[in-house]
Amino acid sequence: NALTKHYPLAKQGLLEKRQVLRAVDGVSFAIQEGEIFGLVGESGCGKSTTGQLLVQLVKQTQGELYFQGRPLGGLSAGEMKSLRRDVQIVFQDPYSSLNPKKTIGWTLEEPLIIHRIGDKMTRRRIVAETLEQVGLDPGYASRYPHELSGGQRQRVGIAAALVLSPKFIVIDEAVSALDVSVQSQILNLLKELQMKRGLTYLFISHDLNVVEYISDRVGVMYLGKMVEIFEVGREGAEPLHPYTKALFSAIPDVKMRKERVTLQGEVPSPIDPPSGCAFHPRCPLATDRCRSVAPELKRVGPGHEISCHLYEKEANGTT
Ligand code: SF4
Ligand code: MG
Repeated sequence: NALTKHYPLAKQGLLEKRQVLRAVDGVSFAIQEGEIFGLVGESGCGKSTTGQLLVQLVKQTQGELYFQGRPLGGLSAGEMKSLRRDVQIVFQDPYSSLNPKKTIGWTLEEPLIIHRIGDKMTRRRIVAETLEQVGLDPGYASRYPHELSGGQRQRVGIAAALVLSPKFIVIDEAVSALDVSVQSQILNLLKELQMKRGLTYLFISHDLNVVEYISDRVGVMYLGKMVEIFEVGREGAEPLHPYTKALFSAIPDVKMRKERVTLQGEVPSPIDPPSGCAFHPRCPLATDRCRSVAPELKRVGPGHEISCHLYEKEANGTT
């Protein structure tokens, strides 16, 4: 049931026929209810596409998605509609999704109207409560997007995701455009909301520090594939994949980095990914086998999965 999303490039007139952009190339993972699952990787690794697949903003080319144990492919139209309430997404730039001509109150009420929730009074009450929960005075309902700061707009973006009382929220680079001090306020708000409302998040960021701070588990993506999944703070589950190590090495002053790994070269194109392990052209530990055989994501210990030939023996338990 590995998820795959290929974008046909021919349709977009970019390249000759049959070439596809392997944005997400056979990714398979499960997010537990009530957890914050972080997703990291360089830009273009497929993390945003993975998030959009999970909320079905885009449809997968192959594979099946499950929500609360049920395949989405088997849902009726009515069930699909309630799924649209249960799963929401917050983007990096809420400005682009906020209508500049409409008040914040209108933006927050609209989804309630679409889903036929409550009468006018009830809807206004839900909007006011939601604004309060994201740390904004209910009076903000009468304001327009341009009257707000970046941090306040992101609070509105979060409110818009919360207003339908979802269960699962994809948060895609939601703090990346904000100043560091505002970032930590928004991160703490997200964490608080997650606990209070028992929410589940897929938290996407290129910033490993941010992801590690907020997440229970972290998935690392490279060229459309999941290369490692580890539990934050679990002893024995420290990240080991050469790519993850390289990502961590790039951050000054972080604990767990013993050996420094430096990334060489650019990220190859997802249109024509390298043979074998897609990371091999940049991996300081690559061998001949890496150039020809693609490793699979395998469990190497509690809460820890790695896709790398170096760790396969441990995975097989044959040591
Ligand atoms: Fe490096 Fe080989 Fe592991 Fe890929 S499989 S990360 S190339 S050692
Ligand atoms: Mg992105």
